[in-house]
Amino acid sequence: KFLKTAEIRTQFLDYFRRQGHTIVPSSPLVPEHDPTLLFTNAGMVQFKDVFLGRETRPYTRAASCQKCLRAGGKHNDLENVGYTARHHTFFEMLGNFSFGDYFKREAIGYAWEFLTKELEIPPEKLWVTVYEEDDEAASIWLDEIRVDPRRFSRIGVHDNFWSMGDVGPCGPCTEIFYDHGPEVPGGPPGTPEADGDRYVEIWNLVFMQYDRAADGTLRPLPKPSVDTGMGLERIAAVLQGVHSNYDIDIFRHLIEAAAAIVGSSDLASSSLKVIADHIRASTFLVAEGILPANEGRGYVLRRIIRRAVRHGYRLGCRDLFFYKLVAPLGEVMGDAYPEIVEKRDPIEQVLRREEARFAETLEQGMKILEDSLRKIQGKRLPGELIFRLYDTYGFPVDLTRDFALEHGLELDLEGFEREMEKQRQRARAASGFDAGHHKVIPIHAQTRFVGYDTLRCEAKVLALLKDDA
Ligand code: ATP
Ligand code: MG
Ligand code: MG
Ligand code: MG
Repeated sequence: KFLKTAEIRTQFLDYFRRQGHTIVPSSPLVPEHDPTLLFTNAGMVQFKDVFLGRETRPYTRAASCQKCLRAGGKHNDLENVGYTARHHTFFEMLGNFSFGDYFKREAIGYAWEFLTKELEIPPEKLWVTVYEEDDEAASIWLDEIRVDPRRFSRIGVHDNFWSMGDVGPCGPCTEIFYDHGPEVPGGPPGTPEADGDRYVEIWNLVFMQYDRAADGTLRPLPKPSVDTGMGLERIAAVLQGVHSNYDIDIFRHLIEAAAAIVGSSDLASSSLKVIADHIRASTFLVAEGILPANEGRGYVLRRIIRRAVRHGYRLGCRDLFFYKLVAPLGEVMGDAYPEIVEKRDPIEQVLRREEARFAETLEQGMKILEDSLRKIQGKRLPGELIFRLYDTYGFPVDLTRDFALEHGLELDLEGFEREMEKQRQRARAASGFDAGHHKVIPIHAQTRFVGYDTLRCEAKVLALLKDDA
């Protein structure tokens, strides 16, 4: 059954509302009470304290559609974007949660019913995994749900055992995969070929069952809980009959818009996918008040914007283009997230200015990279070159890595680290005191004086963004 992405979002929340869940709005991408986390990377983040028993809510069942960002930090999918059919930096995670309410049987039952009855996905297209020691979950799947044992496997700790940290809540997972068919490369979960795009993980159900003590012992939690996450774009690909997230309605629209703006006709180009992915991440970050900067969250944003701009350049575009995609994004996601339409002007200004700053050095940097293809011996970009691109031309390392990958080159990252260390020492010597943990990332093109107009504009943009953020 064909469903638009927006319809799936609604249908998921409606289904869980009918099962007694309270619908909780997405929390911000910048975690509100968790300075240890760079960005919200899963639906459970806003419920962490509820799971830990530090906070109680007036409900024990919740469902949400959570904005997530996986670029930097523990989960980093930035380098997967453009290379797999299923990873984004920004994506939406649908989830249902039980806080000491229901457990494995109900959680599995809901997931299966939603996929096979509500969405009418044929069961023979699905594959299920459980944690290798979780006989309870295995028995629910095999004896009660009666999934085909030929499409069922037990998986080890790495993929199917979840923990919040070294101590605290943890427990086994069960995951549901969709088989996109033999025409797509890849093998079933747990096999060496599993990393392809054929069997795509769509839903992860985590059973918080134990409390791990500092000495590693597991004690059963008095009230076990459930945390699930399903990628909205991945389930949309399934329901829209396409094999790639980048072919769903939202991404088609963005890719077509990007192609028209940069003047490219190759709709299958991976650069267009990167641009379409990165406009979502950038727009949602700026909408929350994050600005490009040389460290922390702002540096992640800067890297994302510059990577997108470099891909535009790769497609032959020599004008500012990236900011022009905020409007097309609003057309497909503005109903669910009105802020990206309301804040369109300031968001465009921020993106445009970052793009303009980078444009000055992008061409020179690209020339250096292209020259190096001819000049360097072997297949390794020297650390000194990576550092110069970074320091003088504002090329974040992952942007250089992206270029290197396209040309089958490796990076001399140790050499780059050595140059960075020298730089830190110079900075320390110059400032006359030990910089300690204070990070010094001088990037010539950005630390230059930009003039009062730009500064005033920056203040204005900030004020606009802070409005109701
Ligand atoms: P994968 O193994 O495919 O990288 P994951 O195991 O890292 O996924 P989880 O942490 O279990 O993902 O997140 C729950 C769900 O969120 C996944 O089953 C998937 O549907 C979705 N998801 C995870 N990462 C991404 C991403 N980068 N882009 C889009 N959807 C994602
Ligand atoms: Mg992952
Ligand atoms: Mg996985
Ligand atoms: Mg998973």
